Amino acid sequence: MREGRKGSGNQFITLDGKKRLATVNLVPSSTVYGERLIIIDGIEYRTWDPFRSKLAAGVLKGLRNFPFVEGVSVLYLGVSTGTTASHLSDIVGEEGVIYGVEFAHRVMREFVDRVAKNRINVIPIVEDARRPERYFHLIGKVDVVYCDIAQADQTEIAMSNCRKHLNRGGYLILVVKARSIDVTRTPKQLFRKERQKLKKNDFEVEQMVELDPFDRDHAMISARWRNKEDH
Ligand code: SAM
Repeated sequence: MREGRKGSGNQFITLDGKKRLATVNLVPSSTVYGERLIIIDGIEYRTWDPFRSKLAAGVLKGLRNFPFVEGVSVLYLGVSTGTTASHLSDIVGEEGVIYGVEFAHRVMREFVDRVAKNRINVIPIVEDARRPERYFHLIGKVDVVYCDIAQADQTEIAMSNCRKHLNRGGYLILVVKARSIDVTRTPKQLFRKERQKLKKNDFEVEQMVELDPFDRDHAMISARWRNKEDH
């Protein structure tokens, strides 16, 4: 662990008498989305807002297997303007890397301005996540795939990226937005269906947490990919 980043990773700090989730700021004195900075024992933390970041919501809703640690590589599908990616960048540190894939050009420009240009471990990739082969030459294999793209075929897109990019035994963290799939079925039915799809395709689903009240009708699934050699 590098000096000045003692206790890196996501952690709870006390702010104004309340327990808050926070990450150790990789770029001291800078903020990304108006989050608060707080110095404790000489270490600067950025508060991590669960109403702005589904991963923070997942942690607060009890996500146990948190595969993001110092030094890991992450393929982030649907990175948007980078709120969550900025915290992942804090967590994985300079030894790790976040590859952020986003197909909307205007959104990507904001991501570069707010996050990628200030953080050496964040690599922006303007591509369609439906075409994972197009960025294979840039990233190769990663330890974790994080997918938050709010599309009807979000699970299929996540799985095709895992087949192409995920290391053996690596983790998929998938955000399922029920309303993107089907508005005629209940979120619970849809979450179950997406989970089954993963199981049928060699993913070992370790946990699923629903993200309400932070994000209604959303769930986060953590799964480990058992590719053929594991059988
Ligand atoms: N993960 C972000 C966060 O926590 O800050 C929010 C992501 S937002 C719900 C979904 C994003 O996925 C949008 O910015 C959208 O443009 C992007 N997206 C949707 N489909 C995509 C695709 N096929 N390829 C790349 N990006 C996509």
